[in-house]
Amino acid sequence: MASADQPTVDELREEATAFLSANAELKADEDKPFVWGEGDDDSALFEEVDREVELQQLAEAQKFRAKRYDAGLGWITGPKEFGGRELSQAHERAYSSVESKYSVPSGSFFGIGLGMVAPTILAHAQDHVKERYLPALHRADIVGCQLFSEPGAGSDLAGLTTKAERDGDEWVVNGQKVWTSGAHYSDIGEIICRTDPDQPKHKGLTGFVVDMKAPGVEVRPLRQMTGGASFNEVFFHDVRIPDDHRLGEVNAGWSVAITTLLNERASIGASGSGGGIGGIGNATRLIEMLRHFGLDQDKVFRDELARVYSGFQVAKWNNQRAMDKIKAGQAPGPELSGAKLSLTHNMQAVTEFVAKVLGPRLIANTGEWGTFSWAQFILGVPGLRVAGGTDEVLRKIIGEQVLGLPKEPGIDTTSPFKDLLKN
Ligand SMILES: Cc1cc2nc3c(=O)[nH]c(=O)nc-3n(C[C@H](O)[C@H](O)[C@H](O)COP(=O)(O)OP(=O)(O)OC[C@H]3O[C@@H](n4cnc5c(N)ncnc54)[C@H](O)[C@@H]3O)c2cc1C
Repeated sequence: MASADQPTVDELREEATAFLSANAELKADEDKPFVWGEGDDDSALFEEVDREVELQQLAEAQKFRAKRYDAGLGWITGPKEFGGRELSQAHERAYSSVESKYSVPSGSFFGIGLGMVAPTILAHAQDHVKERYLPALHRADIVGCQLFSEPGAGSDLAGLTTKAERDGDEWVVNGQKVWTSGAHYSDIGEIICRTDPDQPKHKGLTGFVVDMKAPGVEVRPLRQMTGGASFNEVFFHDVRIPDDHRLGEVNAGWSVAITTLLNERASIGASGSGGGIGGIGNATRLIEMLRHFGLDQDKVFRDELARVYSGFQVAKWNNQRAMDKIKAGQAPGPELSGAKLSLTHNMQAVTEFVAKVLGPRLIANTGEWGTFSWAQFILGVPGLRVAGGTDEVLRKIIGEQVLGLPKEPGIDTTSPFKDLLKN
């Protein structure tokens, strides 16, 4: 039986419906069958808006998230002491399923802050830091970013060289991060720095929460091949971080980074569970494309389409298995590396399928519905194959941690970092 502050899943669904009915519009074409040539044919994986429009969209998204939080629906599974509702993943899923029927502002601005930074703060920060940032992140009063990758440290993250040196109750940070999604609109960042180069590579690292508006933080946009600039280089010139903003113990930053990376793979993998991003894995859309171009009876195309479809179905079930593990109170494990790998593998399969069907229509924009718009998807897929662990690195993790194959040779766990060859 549900108590006053512990609704059943059905009651939560009713709450969600009441909140969303009052604050958002039902999607008009929710149950409308797909018809070739009708509606929006956008297939882009990355937002390609200019900075001004992006800021307007962010403000709208923040406004909506604040209302959602104030209605008790902003952090359904979080601990009560930090502003959550302490309900189950099933309650969270119920909310998401109701919300998917409504047109709400994009939540993409908050993916990193809520999916990666907040869980790491919850696991590793001091209580007053949790109190300060967790409700604010979930209410979208602030936005978070992930400051891990550097020009010489991506897959080999433990090779990072941005340094933090202790100065009394503060740390002074100098160095450069790269590919920082959303740094240009973020208020805080989770940063991993080298705090002791005399220790072996994975041991002299420390995590912090850094104020992105602090003096000495310089954010420069990077232009990607899809046209937009969702990523940045971030330079740190003598940036000061109070010691109480440290995540975990000094020189124990590797386990802090692992917390974030496991949550990152969980978020990216989960995003592909519903049949593909933006309905890309939705077979109807691809079948109608074949039909439109008179290829629906072609045995080769039919066979390829069946493969694409099966790939998405298998990924969906596999992902469900991983989510059930989390639901049962177990930590997200290496199978989520499999979920992310399946997602990008399936997207690559869609890319190849669509390229064969559309051919030169992908190169020049003739204005024909549902053709050139796929170019944005195709140009975006390589980015997803790199973000959150490249395909090759995920295969390595699966080989070593899931299949129990011998570990890759060459990781020096004893020499001081300062004596190792650098990228
Ligand atoms: C869309 C996108 C968003 C991103 N957002 C962020 C962000 O917000 N914050 C952040 O910190 N970073 C972010 N990144 C960076 C991302 O984490 C790195 O790009 C990624 O870890 C790969 O690192 P790298 O680019 O340095 O490539 P490298 O590590 O240099 O890899 C180059 C190539 O070598 C291969 N390779 C490397 N090591 C091995 C190995 N051991 N075995 C086999 N092959 C290997 C890789 O698979 C790849 O093909 C983002 C990247 C993308 C594309």
